[in-house]
Amino acid sequence: MTYRTKEYLSETVVNLKPSGIRRFFDLAASMEGVISLGVGEPDFVTSWSVREACILSLEQGYTSYTANAGLLELREEIASYLLRNFHVGYDPKTEILVTVGASQALDLALRAIINPGDEVIVVEPSFVSYIPLVVLAGGIPVSIQTSGADEFKLQPQQIEQVITSKTKALILCSPNNPTGTVLNKKELEAISEIVKKYDLLVISDEIYAELTYDEAYTSFAAIEEMRERTILVSGFSKGFAMTGWRLGFAAAPSEFLQAMLKIHQYTMMCAPTMAQYGAIEALKNGANDVEEMKKSYRRRRNYFVQSLNEMGLSCHLPGGAFYAFPSIKATGLTSEQFAEQLLLEEKVAVVPGMVFGESGEGYIRCSYASSLEQLQEAVKRMKRFLTRL
Ligand code: PMP
Repeated sequence: MTYRTKEYLSETVVNLKPSGIRRFFDLAASMEGVISLGVGEPDFVTSWSVREACILSLEQGYTSYTANAGLLELREEIASYLLRNFHVGYDPKTEILVTVGASQALDLALRAIINPGDEVIVVEPSFVSYIPLVVLAGGIPVSIQTSGADEFKLQPQQIEQVITSKTKALILCSPNNPTGTVLNKKELEAISEIVKKYDLLVISDEIYAELTYDEAYTSFAAIEEMRERTILVSGFSKGFAMTGWRLGFAAAPSEFLQAMLKIHQYTMMCAPTMAQYGAIEALKNGANDVEEMKKSYRRRRNYFVQSLNEMGLSCHLPGGAFYAFPSIKATGLTSEQFAEQLLLEEKVAVVPGMVFGESGEGYIRCSYASSLEQLQEAVKRMKRFLTRL
């Protein structure tokens, strides 16, 4: 009876578009000698001390569930980390939730606040999960298109232009995936004025907060009066090079956090126990390792972005994350054509900007979390590709 299977599927799921990134990865995976600037993850292995703490927890037999919200010791470490680094205070007992990656924290945040038909503003180019997560939670995503001319910085008046009586929340992401753009304190303050004026909630995705290269990072929750309206989402994947550990967290006023915890306890019970022990070590003693990784990303960013500009792909200097988002408009190709031809002809994998939203068209996302040698080889191949065009 497999021919009828489709009839049983949820319409919402049937109508979700598959991620545009997948096709390129499948193609790249079937080829030899590809340099991948496509994936969004650190090229470092997690620090040894963090791996060791995880191994030790297993040796000691800590293999059962933790509290639903996560180990209290880890929540306490997260609270001191947020206070120490970002100057925003949370009660570890009621305002912090340990999750399966920032991904789960985003999902819980949206499901905890959305009633059917509520609108959530997504700032594009955006991380590919936001729109599907809003839709799966029963909400309606409303996109704002930022522009390369503004280095993809959200302009506060753009929010005002899409506000309706149904607008409930805004998802912010700084440093941004895919553009690497960081919003500074002044820019966040200007956004906070609109947030107050229209009584919005903000889901602030700060997964790349550790990776900013030019200025001290400002958390949206640290902006005056914003803590009460913000669900801060972060995690260990990027700054601590722990993508495979699947560990993140949310910090929010207790009403929001407790609503998220309700969903979490029924759907997940708790985040993986051994990963939580590793994360305690990461927060206690990991700052130097993070600093070293950051220095290395900064060097690679400077080299790669300069090389892109020299080869005629104009690119702003991204303040954070590990992505460069150069314009390919001068080539006359669409971002999909550019990415496909570059892959087939020169075996360099990048992601076409259009997968991140309308305003991503005309751009490509290149991750510079690759060794300098790989980046140099990629630059050589890209130059050759451009010369032929
Ligand atoms: N938010 C953004 C902006 C991301 O780029 C990613 C990972 N690509 C995530 C969230 C999810 O991170 P995690 O591995 O913690 O689930």
